[in-house]
Amino acid sequence: MRLDPKALRYMSNDDFRVLTAIEVGSRNHDIVPAPLIAQLSHLRGGGANKRISDLVKRKLIATEQNSKYKGYKLVYAGYDYLALRTLSKRGTVTSVGNQIGVGKESDIFVVAGEDEKEVVLKLHRLGRQSFRNVKLKRDYFRQDQSPSWMYMSRLSAMKEYAFMKVLYENGFPVPIPVDQNRHCVVMEFVEAFPLRQISQVGEPGKLYSKLMDLIVRLAKYGLIHGDFNEFNILLKDDGSPILIDFPQMVSTSHPNAEFYFNRDVDCIRTFFKRRFNYESVLYPKFGLDSNKEFDLDVQVAASGFTKKDQSQLEKYMSELNEQGGNSGDDFVEDLPSDEEIVYESDENEDDENKGEDEAVSTNQSVDTDQDFDDQDFV
Ligand code: ADP
Ligand code: MG
Repeated sequence: MRLDPKALRYMSNDDFRVLTAIEVGSRNHDIVPAPLIAQLSHLRGGGANKRISDLVKRKLIATEQNSKYKGYKLVYAGYDYLALRTLSKRGTVTSVGNQIGVGKESDIFVVAGEDEKEVVLKLHRLGRQSFRNVKLKRDYFRQDQSPSWMYMSRLSAMKEYAFMKVLYENGFPVPIPVDQNRHCVVMEFVEAFPLRQISQVGEPGKLYSKLMDLIVRLAKYGLIHGDFNEFNILLKDDGSPILIDFPQMVSTSHPNAEFYFNRDVDCIRTFFKRRFNYESVLYPKFGLDSNKEFDLDVQVAASGFTKKDQSQLEKYMSELNEQGGNSGDDFVEDLPSDEEIVYESDENEDDENKGEDEAVSTNQSVDTDQDFDDQDFV
C-alpha cells in the first residue's frame, strides 16, 4: 500500500509549497532544478533546500540527474499528497480507510467523505506497468507534450470523472460522481461485488439481457465502454448491475468502434457461457442495434475533457496495452518511482545544487508571482 494519509498530518505548509513548486516546474522541466523550486515556492535562504532534502528522505520526491544538472521530480506518493490535500480542503475526503482494490492502473480506497459517509477514492496510476517501455517511445509524444505518468494519470482521472458524470446525469447505472482532482476520482461507494466474484445468479438470462441492453443503450448515446467485463460490472443484491471504470470509453464514431463494441458483447457472452453455462442466440450487433439517438460524446467534451485530451490519452493507453494486455486483474508492482529514480539519502545539499543556476537561466520563464497557498493546480 502506498498511500499513508497519516503522514499528511506531518506535512507543513512549506512541504506543500515545495511539492507544488515541483509540480508546476514539471510542466516545463523533466526534472526540476533546486533554484527553480526555491523561486517557485517563495522559500529562500536554504528553506527550500531543507524541505527538499526532507521530502526526498520521505520518498515524496526523488532526485535525478540529467546530462546538464541534478534536479527533482514528484513520485506518486508526493502527487497523492497534493491531491489528498486538495480533496480534504474541499471536504470531499475527510479521512482514508482501507484499500479495496489494486488494479494494473489504479489503487482503490474506501474513504470518508462529507458527513463521514463512505465513498471510494480511485487513484489512477497510468504507466505503473510499462513505464520503461513507454519512456523509450517518448519521442512519439514530444511534439505535443511528454507523457509523464503524472500528466497521463491526471488525464485518465479527468476522463473517468467526465464520463461518469455525464452517464450519471443521463440515468445510467454508474456510481454517483463526487469529486476529481489531479489523478484522483471520488465516487459513491457501491455496496456490491464484481460479477467476477459471483458464482451463481437466480436468472442468468435476465441479467444477460440487462447487460446487453446496457451496451445497446450506451451505443444509442454514442458511447462504447471498451472494457465491459466481469471485473467492471458490480452486481447489487437486488440483481441490478452498476457499471464502473471508464478511462477507456470510446465514441461510436471512433474508427475502431465496431471492434470495441463487439469485444464488449463477446466478453459478456463468453463469461455467461463459462460461468453460468448460459448461451443465447440473441446478442446486439453494431450498426443494427447501435444507431445513435443522443450524443453524450458532445456533453463529455463540453465538460472540459476535450477531444484532444481524449486522443492523447488513447494513444498512450494503446501503447500500454500493446505491451501488456488490458485485463486489469493482474497487478504488477512496478512503480516508475522505484525503477526509474534513485532515492537519495545523502545530506549534502550544497553539492547537490551545484551548477543548477546555469540550467535554470536557460529554461523557460516561470510566473514567480503565483501564490501557492490556496491554489489548486488542476
Ligand atoms: P481498475 O481501473 O484498476 O480496473 P476499477 O475502477 O475497475 O479499477 O476498480 C477496481 C475494483 O475496485 C473493482 O473491481 C471493484 O471491486 C472496486 N471498486 C471500484 N469502484 C468502486 C465503487 N464505486 N464502489 C465499490 N467498489 C468499487
Ligand atoms: Mg476495472
